[in-house]
Amino acid sequence: MQTSTRNRVLLERSRTAVWHPCTQMKQHETLPIVPITRGAGCWLYDCDGKRYLDAVSSWWVNLFGHAEPRINAALVNQLQQLEHVILAGFTHEPVVELSERLSAKTGGRLGHCFYGSDGASAVEIALKMSFHFWRNSGQPAKTQFISLAGSYHGETLGALSVSDVALFKDTYAPLLRGSVQVPSPDWRLAAAGVSPRDHAIACAKALEHHLEQHHAATAALIVEPLVQGATGMAMHDAEYLRQARLLCARFKVHLIADEIMTGFGRTGSFFAHEQAGLIGKLAPDFLCLSKGITGGYLPLSAVLTTDTVYAAFYDDEVARGFLHSHSYTGNALACRAALATLDIFEQDDVIAANRAKAARMTALCGELAAHPRVRDFRTLGMIWAFEVADTQPGFARRLFEAALQRGVLLRPISNTVYFMPPYVISDDEMAILAATTLSALETTP
Ligand SMILES: *Cc1c(COP(=O)(O)O)cnc(C)c1O
Repeated sequence: MQTSTRNRVLLERSRTAVWHPCTQMKQHETLPIVPITRGAGCWLYDCDGKRYLDAVSSWWVNLFGHAEPRINAALVNQLQQLEHVILAGFTHEPVVELSERLSAKTGGRLGHCFYGSDGASAVEIALKMSFHFWRNSGQPAKTQFISLAGSYHGETLGALSVSDVALFKDTYAPLLRGSVQVPSPDWRLAAAGVSPRDHAIACAKALEHHLEQHHAATAALIVEPLVQGATGMAMHDAEYLRQARLLCARFKVHLIADEIMTGFGRTGSFFAHEQAGLIGKLAPDFLCLSKGITGGYLPLSAVLTTDTVYAAFYDDEVARGFLHSHSYTGNALACRAALATLDIFEQDDVIAANRAKAARMTALCGELAAHPRVRDFRTLGMIWAFEVADTQPGFARRLFEAALQRGVLLRPISNTVYFMPPYVISDDEMAILAATTLSALETTP
């Protein structure tokens, strides 16, 4: 790729000094690192002013574009008052208001909000809390966790233990605690002639069978509601979640909804689990949130849980309390960015606006969906995904390069191509995204 001296110097320094995530650094001998100097809306700009459409929302975190004026203003205002304070024994307005407003988004059912700094820590927190709840409740044998085949819950050791993506997990397997994977309701795995819903019901049956035998040793089931992201945007029928919720209640096993990716409107409802009717009494026992929570501005995660769980920790004895802390817990700036993000959902009626926008994008993808190499084109809310057939090894990397050359940031997962753009993407930008992907696909074997 063509790049100026200024660009080249920065990427060379980055290659030397920065150990980039999820990256075989040797590939950067030939694959350039892209130095970004500023962002605006859906676009990222490099040192030369070349722009890239951020079709992956900078790893699924950005909601309202880069440099969103309202979030910027809220942060500037917060900076002038308080950047951070220890959250043990201290509190502040942004963390209180955020906890109240997140709880309100669950209809008040999940009334207690515990904070971490990233998605993986939220998962760690939920797993530890579930286990500790059972221990405090006189059931210390409930120590096992169940997740779905192909699930992804983060890459710290506890979160990786309940994940099932071979590339991330196999190398570190000797360090991990065992967990059980039950069949995934991913509708692409349905046998010929079996509907997504019937496949979901069959998978719920498999879960039931497992729980019948192992409920006494099981603390929780953790799921990514409706879309299993990192395994390749695997989508499932909401019936699975509804049945999983009922089974968990029947067998006294917690349901942890990992909405780190799916939360904040990404699947078309504010939380994905709402589409399965998991509200009121059927709400999950734990809800993990991160990524979009700050609109993509600052690292923050939250775990919401019920009064029942909270009450089991409330005691005179210190060791019955929840023993977990992160230095930046409840960071005031991050909470303020999250509040500004929630404000935008209200001010712009985002969920309704996205519905119309998503329909237009799907229409713009008509040619792509009908392309002879495209399989299983699927969409939910502001996510679009498909598999590409007849690919050569290294397809993901080559499509990434082909799209980047054309000014679009795509990051395929193996041969799954997906779009997860910021919600502010315009009709023109959607058209660019669809056309560029089609053109990049044509030249990428
Ligand atoms: C990204 C993700 C995580 C991990 O979040 P990090 O902030 O990257 O640690 C966990 N679960 C799901 C579903 C995710 O998509």
